[in-house]
Amino acid sequence: MECPKDKTVTLVDVVLSGDLDAHECPRCQGNWISSAEYERWQADRRPSGVSVHSIAAQGDFNFRPSEFDSKAALCPECKRYMTRARVMVDRPFYIERCPNCNGIWCDRGEWEILEALGLHESIEQLFSGDWQAQMRSLHHNQKERQATIEKLGSEVAQMVFDLAEVLENHPNGEFGVAYLMRRFDRPQEAAGDRATNPPPSLF
Ligand SMILES: [Zn+2]
Ligand SMILES: [Zn+2]
Repeated sequence: MECPKDKTVTLVDVVLSGDLDAHECPRCQGNWISSAEYERWQADRRPSGVSVHSIAAQGDFNFRPSEFDSKAALCPECKRYMTRARVMVDRPFYIERCPNCNGIWCDRGEWEILEALGLHESIEQLFSGDWQAQMRSLHHNQKERQATIEKLGSEVAQMVFDLAEVLENHPNGEFGVAYLMRRFDRPQEAAGDRATNPPPSLF
């Protein structure tokens, strides 16, 4: 089998995490895990059930994705284009999987991070619509937070985040939200100004 990122290199046999038979590219150090090998290995374990939010809470791994991470790849077994699944929120990297044979490709270092996150035992969940949607929503929240910090400065932004959390967890939190909305609800006569100078949107 050839490396999906560089077809001139032949993959060699390797063992991951002590007992998973896989293949490695001697040049880019990416790993190919065929579906049969992965399923056999998976059958012996009980996946720990990791959530998107627990992944985000892990913070930064200071991981620099391989320069091949963004390169499209063909499955080394059936030559189909592989699909990509985004893993981290902050500094994303992508795991690839063949939609036909379900073989998995990890660029250099990615298997080790999946292992550290406890995701290596259930890679298929990264490709589910549910996981992808949660990852997008988390990414959106983070962008929104970042934009709020840019507009308000980190000190005031932090007060807003803290207050939002307090209200979220308070049984009567919606009274606080209603109060704030009333405070910022402009009177009718200002409607003309608003039309020419709409309130800033975060995006
Ligand atoms: Zn390679
Ligand atoms: Zn395939």
